[in-house]
Amino acid sequence: MRRAIKDKHARFCLEFLQDGNAAAAYRRAGYAVKNADVNAARLMQRPDIQLYIRERRKEIENQLTFNAASIMNLLWDIVNADYTELSKVKNLPCKYCRSDGPILAQSPDPMCPECDGMGRRVVQYAESQYLSRQGKLIYQGAVQTPWGIRLSLTSKMKALELLMRMYLS
Ligand SMILES: [Zn+2]
Repeated sequence: MRRAIKDKHARFCLEFLQDGNAAAAYRRAGYAVKNADVNAARLMQRPDIQLYIRERRKEIENQLTFNAASIMNLLWDIVNADYTELSKVKNLPCKYCRSDGPILAQSPDPMCPECDGMGRRVVQYAESQYLSRQGKLIYQGAVQTPWGIRLSLTSKMKALELLMRMYLS
């Protein structure tokens, strides 16, 4: 529980946390410029002010840790995202493949006189609105080109590089 502290004292503390310069904080908090360093030093001696600064500093530190952790989580999700969720290369039966076998209906026919079971390659794209959270992290957009749809994707390697840099620092 934080005890009440004078508004002007609180202002002084917050200014002090900006740069750690008590005299400058004292002036910025709106106190008289004269003897700012002596008066600021006197304020810094007060237990309530020391406590307030300690608590605020801790709050700021917690916030920074939380942010670093959430950024690292985000990068980790990008690293683990599955590109094939966005687009897949599939082998489908060509039009000469037999399609009478119920199980093999979606697979090329190995006996096909035309494709010898190679089928035809098609690229299938996921509908962007149905992507998972991780899928949405790596999906940056798409354009229709004369040769098909071109996806822009987030680089996992870049994410891994940033993650390693944060981890090692
Ligand atoms: Zn075929």
